[in-house]
Amino acid sequence: MRATVIYGAGDVRVENVPDAALREPTDALVRVVRSCVCGSDLWPYASRPATAHGDRIGHEFLGVVEETGSAVDGLKAGDLVVAPFVWADNTCDFCREGLQTSCRHGGNWGRDGVDAGQGEAVRVPQAQGTLVKLPVAEDSALLPSLLTLSDVYPTGHHCALTAGVNPRTTVTVIGDGAVGLCAVLAAKRLGAERIILMGRHKDRTDLGREFGATDVVAERGAEGVEKVRELTGGDGTHTVLECVGLQAAIETAFEVVRDGGTVSRVGAPQYQAVAAGFGVFRRNITLTGGVAPARAYIEELLPDILEGRTQPGRVFDRTVTLDEVPAGYQAMADRAALKVIIRP
Ligand SMILES: [Zn+2]
Repeated sequence: MRATVIYGAGDVRVENVPDAALREPTDALVRVVRSCVCGSDLWPYASRPATAHGDRIGHEFLGVVEETGSAVDGLKAGDLVVAPFVWADNTCDFCREGLQTSCRHGGNWGRDGVDAGQGEAVRVPQAQGTLVKLPVAEDSALLPSLLTLSDVYPTGHHCALTAGVNPRTTVTVIGDGAVGLCAVLAAKRLGAERIILMGRHKDRTDLGREFGATDVVAERGAEGVEKVRELTGGDGTHTVLECVGLQAAIETAFEVVRDGGTVSRVGAPQYQAVAAGFGVFRRNITLTGGVAPARAYIEELLPDILEGRTQPGRVFDRTVTLDEVPAGYQAMADRAALKVIIRP
């Protein structure tokens, strides 16, 4: 079969790899119908050291079950399913607490002999716990929005939820990438009436306004902080959703949060330390967030998509075939595309 392999910075190839096949009784074999490129795939695309042997890549996909192992219940050949961005048994103590990203029997796509999502097919470990059935046909117009359930929409939701967004909290979202825009959508869904979106790409912040942002701040750094303070009577917002992962973004987050407020971060951190000394202490700021247990939220977020109330799939603005995946990476790295969807 064909699948995407990353060899180093700027070096993504689509190659022949061994066919995905069942190994364990808890596995399922899924033919990929849609996958996509994640903003976090751009970090290795920018900086991975070159090696002779590449790594499989891609952690967001939906597809059709072709075969199931003998220990898999509740799934059968022909089912359309979505996979969250880590696999998990969904039964251990961490999973029962809604923290499938810490599953005792789970793991990551593309590591330790597990297939990744940007390919023709995937062997899904712990299939019964990992996969969620989608009650639509393989040619449904809802597929892009349903695909966001694998990562960006639940990640935006995790950010808003851990920040404590509710109808009484004001919100600043930092970042106009797919996760930031999904965080706007999630904050709106949780009842926020005031959502300030910090981002400098007008086409993206325009979509953010359609998703529920009430104000857009295009300035960055000290100027951006000043603008948010102006909009909030000098105080900042109760919650700040940091959806970038760069040092400058987390520093901005602490400067635009209101005293007593909460900063939640879901951007994969590209920094080692966060300044949380006396200044943050004196202001009673809470720092929360982390990697999103997408699996925990899929059933909750699914109905709004099925019933057409929300369309997170609008973050996809370019479609590529599997062979065009390298160009898709480059388009996202160049900021020429917001998020690329792949039709194998
Ligand atoms: Zn588990």
